[in-house]
Formats: sequence, structure tokens, C-alpha cells
Amino acid sequence: MSLLSVIVPCYNEEESVGLFYTELIKNDAFFAENGIDMELIYINDGSKDRTVAEVKKLREKDERVHLVSFSRNFGKEAAMFAGLERSEGDYVVIMDVDLQDPPSLLPEMLSAINEGYDSVATRRVTRKGEPPVRSFFARIFYRLMKKISQTEMMDGARDYRLMTRQMVNAILSMKEYNRFTKGIFGWVGFNTKWLEYENVERARGETKWNFWKLLKYSIEGIVAFSTMPLQIASLAGVFFCIIAFIMMIFIIVRKMIFGDPVSGWPSLVCIMLMTSGVQFFCTGILGQYLACTYLEVKKRPIYIVKEEL
Ligand code: UDP
Ligand code: MG
Repeated sequence: MSLLSVIVPCYNEEESVGLFYTELIKNDAFFAENGIDMELIYINDGSKDRTVAEVKKLREKDERVHLVSFSRNFGKEAAMFAGLERSEGDYVVIMDVDLQDPPSLLPEMLSAINEGYDSVATRRVTRKGEPPVRSFFARIFYRLMKKISQTEMMDGARDYRLMTRQMVNAILSMKEYNRFTKGIFGWVGFNTKWLEYENVERARGETKWNFWKLLKYSIEGIVAFSTMPLQIASLAGVFFCIIAFIMMIFIIVRKMIFGDPVSGWPSLVCIMLMTSGVQFFCTGILGQYLACTYLEVKKRPIYIVKEEL
């Protein structure tokens, strides 16, 4: 027998917890046929609704259900990390509770692992049902990441991924505080098979992400997996120095030939505004990296557990 750990982060998902369970256990026959035991780990990420009660209800009928409850909302990244730490399976899969990661794909994923892959990942080929502005910026983000980061990140990739124990251990060895799992998956390497599927809309409840949260998350991703912005900032500095030098020569030569007509105040103001803007921008980039370093150096725990069953 081999063991499969299913990790499900939940934040205010009282309606979805039970639905997800019902969908997942439709695979029980397949698991039994293939000698697979399952453990289901719900991570309650500081929900303020009845999520915990719903999980406890499931636990009463099925002892394969486990619960880890955080003391507050630490974010999905922390929840996934806690799940990976708790998992004991030979194979581990991370899934959203809202059924956007269809449990019906599990048999196909497990077969692919048996073919010798270390990990089977999923990506959405459509973004149907998502606000167009969000899809637009998501595309830009992935295109940018491809250019500025050495770590491979796939457009439309979900966190829905089945992994072998070896890969999970590799991920757990990355103890960083600023976690950007989409990058971490790529960074650890291993053979990955990609399954593609059409976007599925959320079964119940609503998305926990808004535009600003996603923007913040994408900046975290860039800072965590690329140092290119720092290089761009230095290059911008060099570029402006060269321009300033050329201007200096120009002004000196003009003074020697034509004397000094006092004009050019508007252009001076424009140049000053422009250069100070670039300076603030570059200091901001530096600040982002410094802030991340600061949080990293403090070595705070990634999450705090309140209850564990
Ligand atoms: N989630 C979480 N903590 C959070 C936000 C979300 O554990 O702070 C969980 C959520 O319950 C769900 C999954 O992460 O199971 C994906 O969230 P959501 O469906 O809101 O994201 P989307 O699918 O819209 O990207
Ligand atoms: Mg969702």
C-alpha cells in the first residue's frame, strides 16, 4: 500500500468543505483498486466562519480527515507549507477547496506519476469567468517573469500539483519566509508532466483575491525569484550619468561659442523632475528587496497553529 496526502487550504469556506469531500471520495474506488491509502489534511487558515466545525463533522465519520487550524489568517502560501510539513504520504497533492481543481483529475495524475514523473502539474488553458483586467495583468506578469527570472513559471499554472515525497522534501528544505510557491515548484526542478484543462468556476463562496492583493503577490514573486530589477536600477543610473555628461559638454561648448543667454528654465524643471522620479523609483526597488531581507532575517515562524486534530 502507498499513501496519498491531500492538502486543502481553506479560508472562510464553510460551504465548500463538505462539497469538496464528497467529490474527492468519488475516487475511493480507484484508490482501493490501486492499493492507495489516503489522508486528507484540511488547513484552516484563520477562518471566521464555520469552516472548522464543518471539518470536525467530516472527521467524525471519516478518520482519514485531519485538521490543522491556524491562530489567524496567514495566507495560502503558509497553509500549503503547513500541509506539506504535516503530510506523511509517498505522494502529496495540493488542492483548492472550491472545486476549481477538479478531484476527477486525480486518477490521471497518479497514473502519470507511475509512468516515472516526479510531479504532475495542472494549468488552465482558458481564463473563462475571470475579470478580463485580471487575465491581462496575469499574462503580463508571466511574460515579464520569463524575461527576468531564471526560474521556470508556466502561464496559467495552478497550485494543483501531485508530487513524490522526494520533491516534497526538496520544497520543505526551502525554509524562506517570503514564499512564492509557483516559483519554488520551478526552482526545485524534477521532471514535471503538465495536464491542461479548461477553467472551472468556483462552486460556492467567493474568491479571496482582489486586484491589489494579486499585485502585491506578483511583486513578492518578482523580488523572490529575480534580481533583475536591481540591475535595471543600476543601469538606469549609468544611463542618466552618461546623458548628464553629454549635456555638460554641450553647455560648456555653447557658453564658449555663444556666451550665456539665461533661458531654459522649463527644460531644467523637466529634467529635475524626471531624474528625481527615476531616483525614487530606484530607491523603491531597493526598498522592496531590503524589506524582504528584513522579514527574512527576523526568522519569524511561517504560521502559528492553534489546534491540530
Ligand atoms: N485560501 C487560504 N488562505 C487565504 C486565501 C485563500 O487558505 O488567505 C485558500 C482558499 O480557501 C482556497 C484556495 O486558497 O481553497 C484558493 O483561493 P481562491 O479560490 O480564493 O483563489 P482563486 O481560485 O480565486 O485564485
Ligand atoms: Mg478558487
